[in-house]
Amino acid sequence: AITTRDLQHLLALIAEEMEKNRDRLCELDGVIGDGDHGLAMDAGCQAITKAVGELDAAQTAPTLLFNIAAKAFLNAVGASSGPLYATAFMRAGAAAKDKQALSDDDLLSVVAAMAQGIHERGKAEIGEKTMMDAWGPAANAALEARRQGASLSQCLAAAVQAARKGCEATSGMVATKGRAARLGDRAVGHVDPGAASAVIMIESMARFAS
Ligand code: ADP
Ligand code: MG
Ligand code: MG
Repeated sequence: AITTRDLQHLLALIAEEMEKNRDRLCELDGVIGDGDHGLAMDAGCQAITKAVGELDAAQTAPTLLFNIAAKAFLNAVGASSGPLYATAFMRAGAAAKDKQALSDDDLLSVVAAMAQGIHERGKAEIGEKTMMDAWGPAANAALEARRQGASLSQCLAAAVQAARKGCEATSGMVATKGRAARLGDRAVGHVDPGAASAVIMIESMARFAS
């Protein structure tokens, strides 16, 4: 089972990876956005690590941990990614259904709920050059692998592959949501920063489960 303590470790791992990639994400956002995406994701994930690190894992169910993560991210991030990931973590909390610990299926439901939350909050479809181009295919691939009997780590490995492929595909897209939409054709040839940070988050989840 995946405990609150495990999730504290997962969220710390995500923050570590975001910090390592902060400059690269800012550079990507500098090309088709306003250059702050690495700072936003780093600040948001550090805020999560701090807030959930202070929790007594034995007294805190995963649902509450995710709700606290959502609030911490929202408060730390002024950029568009703030409300998008806050919604994702709120939905993760709902998917955790107030259980004391999560099964493998619960964790896959968490991933799917995060993708769905981002979709509903941002109203982006796959193909609009946003983080949905990583999250959507990743969630679909994980659930499809599960239906075919794959283990949690196999499902998350499939999610990583799909997220990377979706992220790479954003390079060929014109943006119709977010700041990059103002650039029209000029955004073509450049990867979406939000899709790149989504890959990092999904990779961290896969590493945690392997
Ligand atoms: P801002 O553009 O406000 O500075 P960030 O730099 O943190 O925000 O995040 C930019 C990323 O947010 C984009 O690369 C894109 O992936 C994502 N994004 C923007 N708008 C949406 C939306 N409506 N739905 C999903 N993702 C979005
Ligand atoms: Mg930005
Ligand atoms: Mg900004």
